[in-house]
Amino acid sequence: MSRHPFTDPISGQTVTLVNRPDRWWWEGGVGVEHGGCNLLADVFADLDCFSCPVCGWNGRVGGAWVVDIVEAETYPPTAEPEPPADLRQDGRR
Ligand SMILES: [Zn+2]
Repeated sequence: MSRHPFTDPISGQTVTLVNRPDRWWWEGGVGVEHGGCNLLADVFADLDCFSCPVCGWNGRVGGAWVVDIVEAETYPPTAEPEPPADLRQDGRR
């Protein structure tokens, strides 16, 4: 797990991007720790925002920055996840 503090420009508060390389993004592997809430806010990289369904915090985060971190930590070139066999076109990648 890696932690990357940043300032949410909407609230002006420091929040923390959390990436868990052992989990896929859509399995809760990426989230934003915020203001005393127990849940990690969902990150919507294509919208440059994050949002918490529990406390209602909506904040702004650079989606490209998040994707860069996740790709560097979760999908290193030497450990690229194997695609399912039925999606593989040409043996090993
Ligand atoms: Zn929350």
